[in-house]
Amino acid sequence: MRYTELFCPTLREIPSEAEIVSHQLLLRAGYIRKSGSGIYSYLPMGYKVLKKIMAIVREEMDAAGGQELMMPIIQPRELWEKSGRWAVYGDEMFRLKDRHLRDFALGPTHEELITSIVDADTHSYRDLPLLLYQIQNKYRDEIRPRFGVMRGREFIMKDLYSFDLDVEGMNESYRKMYQAYSNIYNRLGLEYRVVEADNGAIGGSESHEFIVLAGSGESVIVYCSECDYAADVEKAEAIPEEAINTGEAALPMEKSATPGQRTIADLVEFYGLPEKRLIKTLIYEADGELVAVVIRGDRELNEIKLKNYLQVNELAMAGEERVRNTCGGGFGSLGPVGLQVKTFADREVENMINTSCGANEDDFHYINVNPGRDFGAAAFADLRNTVAGDACPACGKVLKETRGIEAGQIFQLGTKYSEALQATYADRDGNPQLMVMGCYGIGVSRTMAAAIEQNHDDNGIIWPLSIAPYQAIIIPVNVNKADQMEAAEKIYSELLAAGVEVILDDRDERVGVKFKDADLIGIPLRVTVGPKSLAEGKVEFKERQGKESELVLAGDICKRILDLVK
Ligand code: ATP
Ligand code: MG
Repeated sequence: MRYTELFCPTLREIPSEAEIVSHQLLLRAGYIRKSGSGIYSYLPMGYKVLKKIMAIVREEMDAAGGQELMMPIIQPRELWEKSGRWAVYGDEMFRLKDRHLRDFALGPTHEELITSIVDADTHSYRDLPLLLYQIQNKYRDEIRPRFGVMRGREFIMKDLYSFDLDVEGMNESYRKMYQAYSNIYNRLGLEYRVVEADNGAIGGSESHEFIVLAGSGESVIVYCSECDYAADVEKAEAIPEEAINTGEAALPMEKSATPGQRTIADLVEFYGLPEKRLIKTLIYEADGELVAVVIRGDRELNEIKLKNYLQVNELAMAGEERVRNTCGGGFGSLGPVGLQVKTFADREVENMINTSCGANEDDFHYINVNPGRDFGAAAFADLRNTVAGDACPACGKVLKETRGIEAGQIFQLGTKYSEALQATYADRDGNPQLMVMGCYGIGVSRTMAAAIEQNHDDNGIIWPLSIAPYQAIIIPVNVNKADQMEAAEKIYSELLAAGVEVILDDRDERVGVKFKDADLIGIPLRVTVGPKSLAEGKVEFKERQGKESELVLAGDICKRILDLVK
């Protein structure tokens, strides 16, 4: 491609609406343009990157036994009524009516539709397993579309659905997809971690997220410094820290006046005890009912763990008035001793000695409180946020924390959808059995943005070779010099003939401008044809991610590039 013919409108200024680097660079480098909140066009350079990601995804899905199909984006309401998700999806679902006033959804995902398709034409155990996938636009009316294509309202997803005879079959399909996803992110050239994930509303048993590491990511994950363990903080467990052994014996509990002392920080000061020797008590409304949760003073409660543990739909902090009416004291003076509310405590609390807590009476606390002796709990469970420094649940070594972007997620669905839609097959004895399902998504457009979050510098994008829109760019310093253009054209046609995707920057521009654009759009390999080196029969070669350039004989440059590209 000649630069003068390329539609790649670059911007000098950083667009003010773009908060994160990938969004800024995709706009500045002429890869995307916005047409509405969370809705984007992919310009030719952007679409080239997407096509490369899609090609890798397709190859790995096919290699794992997947078959590609294409389902409609417009889906009738009746289908979504069957699973109950017409109501559950809420405002995130784009809805429309046809001329007969019938309701439709723009597909945010396709479990219902694929299940109805497979059910209609699959009758016997001989027809399974099936792995069916598509790559298409998805629609979700996100509350906060932001970060460009990272969280769009229209975005490109690869979604695969597995249908098996039984749980064993589902596990095997899941294992295949896990491997295929790992292959994909390896081939994309991205640094990532596979983490145990919370299943969220989708249901089912196991789930993993593929997280592309990047400081700007919305996901916080912990991973082990020694073994393979990694998990989303929403889900991560840690071995509870041993009770802080002060060597002291359990002392008799006493009530003490603590005028004006309400926060953990106040009490640290007041009693001269460290945060981790105190406990705090939080009151929640769980499906309308009050529950108390006790955790160590230095820890944070993990509401997702609590919600999963209690198996409730609605969970929110209780208001102070209701708390005061039921417990006796207000916020800042609560504690589990004598509390008339069902109490759950974090596992770490169980073995604490001589701790302190609120007395459920304003301006009073208890000291020398000992769990078990002075209060009980309906359960001691893992309810806190795991943090860096905790012990790995798999091997006991130190956990570390990092941020990343959820680029893909895989789920074991079990029979959730086959049951709702009565998707059955006849087993060997002719008896109907529910199909056992899994679903597997990759955000194709989000992966493009994630690749940039992970790979960029002050000058622009640094594409991994596997997904760069063009692998190489040739820059003649002065297009008006015949010898430079001749040498550049020769290298250009040789690379094209060898199948390299290459740009010839034939613009009559200062070389500094051309370098800036090449860096901004992120082309991995750069060849500069200038007067000095050309006099010695050489050209300058530079890799985008490297600092140094080197002189290479003009006759050798194509082989050098081919070696890197192939
Ligand atoms: P998130 O938690 O980020 O909202 P999700 O868990 O709802 O995502 P899934 O339903 O698991 O997403 O969808 C599969 C993949 O599709 C995600 O891993 C992500 O890469 C991508 N994706 C989801 N929502 C969006 C969006 N609004 N914009 C771009 N990509 C998205
Ligand atoms: Mg997800």
